[in-house]
Amino acid sequence: MENSISGLIARARKIVIKFGSNTLADGNGRINLSFLEEFAAQAAALIREGKQLVLVSSGAQVAGLSTMGKWARKQDLHYKQALCAVGQVELMGAWGRAFEPWGIHIAQILLTRDDFGDPIRTLNMRNTLFTLVDERILPIINENDSVSVEEIKIGDNDTLAAQSAVLWSADLLVLFSDIDGLYNKNPKEFPDAELVDEVRDITAARASIRIGGSNSFGTGGIATKLDAAEQVLSYGIPMILAHGGRPRVLEALREGTQRGTAFLA
Ligand code: GLU
Repeated sequence: MENSISGLIARARKIVIKFGSNTLADGNGRINLSFLEEFAAQAAALIREGKQLVLVSSGAQVAGLSTMGKWARKQDLHYKQALCAVGQVELMGAWGRAFEPWGIHIAQILLTRDDFGDPIRTLNMRNTLFTLVDERILPIINENDSVSVEEIKIGDNDTLAAQSAVLWSADLLVLFSDIDGLYNKNPKEFPDAELVDEVRDITAARASIRIGGSNSFGTGGIATKLDAAEQVLSYGIPMILAHGGRPRVLEALREGTQRGTAFLA
């Protein structure tokens, strides 16, 4: 069944896919290896068909906490940054193992807000991304949490994913979250909330979700997702927002058996 989501995936050649920490972690706060393996199998199938992928993966903090549990209560900034330094290695190790059976090498790119504001750095980032993907290596981007303090952080990976999609001139951005998509009101407050299949007007979408009395439905918040959509759409790049935790999520979206929200230019 072709719908706007399956159509977007079918037509896109260059796809940026972002995972939130909640999608990657299991109920015990550990990186969910079987989820990573299941995703890698589906991603490998897309790559075999000639599509190019770039991942934006959160989860450094979650992975750090499950490795250094005794630091859980440390509030000191340097401990938080140290935690991400530990967790980033765990996270990439997990992704590396997930893609290994498919013969796909991964590459880590850690970025900060400053990187996107500097023309020389953006050019270098772009060239590195193009080179990696041309060589059939899978780039995995995260914020460089160990060097970014609050004031200079991008802060959320929805924005980082949107900026990366623009930088790489992607054809499609997919945000995997722990909500099924955009609702007309907060589904946690209103049982009759309805999933919106397509959004063409972000301003109208923003206005209508306020009717629900809240504009933060998920952990990352719907606000950063709408901002991300607005940013990529202004460059003509469509976006899909969908629940990342559903079974064989990439395939289900491609086949039209899983719903989500398509943001269309
Ligand atoms: N960079 C953070 C991490 O890897 C996540 C930020 C976000 O989830 O938006 O833990």
